[in-house]
Amino acid sequence: MINRLAVIGVGLIGGSLALSLKSKGAVNEVIGYSRSENARQEALALGVIDKAADSIAEAVAEADVIFVAVPMGAMAAVFADMSEHIRPEAIITDGGSAKAQVVMAAREALGDNFKQFVPGHPIAGTEKSGPSAAFATLYEDHRVVLTPLSDTDTAATAKIKAMWQLTGAEVFEMDVEHHDTVLAATSHLPHVLAFNLVGMLAQRDDCDEVLRYAAGGFRDFSRIASSDAVMWRDICLGNKQAILDLLDEYHQGINKIEQAIKEEDGEYLIEVFARAKKARDTRF
Ligand code: NAD
Repeated sequence: MINRLAVIGVGLIGGSLALSLKSKGAVNEVIGYSRSENARQEALALGVIDKAADSIAEAVAEADVIFVAVPMGAMAAVFADMSEHIRPEAIITDGGSAKAQVVMAAREALGDNFKQFVPGHPIAGTEKSGPSAAFATLYEDHRVVLTPLSDTDTAATAKIKAMWQLTGAEVFEMDVEHHDTVLAATSHLPHVLAFNLVGMLAQRDDCDEVLRYAAGGFRDFSRIASSDAVMWRDICLGNKQAILDLLDEYHQGINKIEQAIKEEDGEYLIEVFARAKKARDTRF
C-alpha cells in the first residue's frame, strides 16, 4: 500500500498509473503536478489526482513513491527541482521511453537518493496525451520494463515491481542499454517511419485527394503519426545512437527493395515480404 503517490506529469502515462492504483485501492492519496495549470486543474476535475500541487517541491515533500512521467527532455530539470525536497526513504521511478539519458540525469541530480531511483518504462500507450487521455486499465496485460542499476536498492526495485503488478502489468528487468536497443527497434524506429510517411504526404498539393482513398492498412500504419511531437522529438534525441544505427540498417533494406523494383526482381521481393509475413504471423 502506498500512502502518498506523487505524479509529476499528469498525462496519459502518469494519470493512468494514478487511476489504476486508485481503482485497486492501492494508494491512499495521489498528489499531482504538471507544468501547465490547465493540466493540473483538469486532472483534479477528472479525479485522476486527489490534490494538485503548485510546485514540484510541494508534490514530492511527503510522498512515499514519486512517479515522473514528463516528456524525456524535461526529466533532468524535474529531478533537479525535486532533489532537495524528497524524503530520504521515498522511492522514485519514471516512465520515460528510453532509459540511458534518464538514468544519467537522475544520477546527476538525485545525489544520495539515486539508490532509491528505479528506472522504468511501461510498454503501453496510445497516440493521445494529457490527463483526459488517462484510463485505469491502460497497463492491464501489458509489459513494464524496469532497468535497475547495480547500485539501485533491491527493496526499492521490489516495491516498484509490486506496484506495477497491481496494475495488471507483467514486469521484466533488463539492463539499460539492452532496453534502449530493443525499444529503438520496436517503437522508436516505427514512429520515425510513420511520422516521415504521413509528413511527406501532408506536403503534397494533392494530399487531401490522396488521403481520401486511404484504406485500413494506411490507417493502421499511420495511427502512431498522431502521437505528440514534443514527446517524440525527446525520444529521438534521447536514444540517438540506437535509432541512428537502426535507420542505417533500414536505409540498406529499403535501397535493396528499391533496386529490386527497378530491376523487376520479383524473387527478391517475395523473399523479403514472405520473411516479414512469417515473422509477424508467428508472433502476433
Ligand atoms: P503527456 O503529454 O500525456 O503527459 C505529460 C505531462 O507532463 C503533461 O501533463 C504535461 O503538462 C506535463 N509536463 C510537461 N513538461 C513538464 C515539466 N517540465 N514539468 C512538469 N510537468 C510537465 O505524455 P505521456 O504520453 O504521458 O508521456 C509521459 C512520459 O511517458 C514520456 O517520458 C514518454 O516518453 C513516456 N511514455 C509514453 C508512452 C506513450 O505511448 N504515450 C508510452 C510509454 C512511455
